[in-house]
Amino acid sequence: MVDLKGQYQDIKEQVNTSIAQILETSAFINGPEVHALQKEMEEYLGVKHMIPCANGTDALQIAMMGLGLQPGDEVITADFTFAATVEVIALLQLTPVLVDVEPDTFNINPAAIEKAITPKTKAIVPVYLFGQCANMDAILEIAEKHNLFVIEDNAQAIGASYISKEGSKKKAGTMGHVSATSFFPSKNLGAYGDGGAIFTNDDALAHTLRGVVNHGMYERYHHDVVGVNSRLDSIQAAVLRAKLPNLDTYNQKRRAAALKYSMALANHKDIITPKMDVCCSADTCVCDCHVFHQYTLQIKNNDRDALVKHLQSKDIPCGVYYPIPLHLQKAYKDSRYNESDFPVTNQLVKEVISLPMHTELDDEQITYITDAVLEFLNN
Ligand SMILES: *Cc1c(COP(=O)(O)O)cnc(C)c1O
Repeated sequence: MVDLKGQYQDIKEQVNTSIAQILETSAFINGPEVHALQKEMEEYLGVKHMIPCANGTDALQIAMMGLGLQPGDEVITADFTFAATVEVIALLQLTPVLVDVEPDTFNINPAAIEKAITPKTKAIVPVYLFGQCANMDAILEIAEKHNLFVIEDNAQAIGASYISKEGSKKKAGTMGHVSATSFFPSKNLGAYGDGGAIFTNDDALAHTLRGVVNHGMYERYHHDVVGVNSRLDSIQAAVLRAKLPNLDTYNQKRRAAALKYSMALANHKDIITPKMDVCCSADTCVCDCHVFHQYTLQIKNNDRDALVKHLQSKDIPCGVYYPIPLHLQKAYKDSRYNESDFPVTNQLVKEVISLPMHTELDDEQITYITDAVLEFLNN
């Protein structure tokens, strides 16, 4: 699904030199590399504060702790996402409220959010699934109207932009009160191990978050709030610093591969290709609205699971993200949910299939993959 070797070849010298230097100086934690990355990422995103931490799941949890959410507060998020998002809500004894998504973008449905709001609702967590922002015009409007926090789960869309309805362009992870991202190796900006970060433009919140990640300490051995231990290693920061200047190019390569997939597959009656018309015309992309963390097809009126097996038999890795809606997972079942509340998610889990997506895909591989998909569907 992912080829990380090619990227490494291009940044090898810088990464190896930086890591050797870290080994020499032994500044493994909170070293100069971490501080330099922080400044560079703040500049890249145009956001005031980056708070590095150990992984994306921690980043979400720490964001919720920093906002002061209390047990019993309701947090609305998407039913169709990776479990990390709902897991941290539950861990903090907040009440997860799962809602349905939109069929064309796979992202949380603003009308479903509005319907789920109660007097206990405190926050919305839009997940930018597969590399594309949710409908933030609508979500920010709902949040303002009901006085709710917006926590962007930006683990899959770092580097993506959102064009608001009045035409202004904003980077994913800079629109809510706070955002979280992951540097897991296969993410668009991946370290060589775990890593994550929280971003905010709010000075007071940033101060709180810097304490929360460090055992609730603002002054050495004075613990003002209950915190956690969540740090980004200097070695991971060095890897990320080598990759950050290439992030836009990496994302462009992903988009170019996605466009080639779509040109080969879009006209088949059993296939819905990912929506990307905001940023792309038939064969070129004019902006960065979608950074294709995953390239995900919907297979209509055909056997998705048999297609998975067919591709595997041809040594083509593929994935089903995600095969089970969160509201049907044992850990997150809740008697308040009705199946009729999740028609889109319930359908998508049967139809989605993600094809290999990374920065090293060449035309020959893409043709081999799309031929294999078409061969199966035409038989
Ligand atoms: C990867 C991911 C996370 C969690 O990130 P980790 O670094 O693996 O903890 C959270 N949300 C989404 C949508 C993700 O894809």
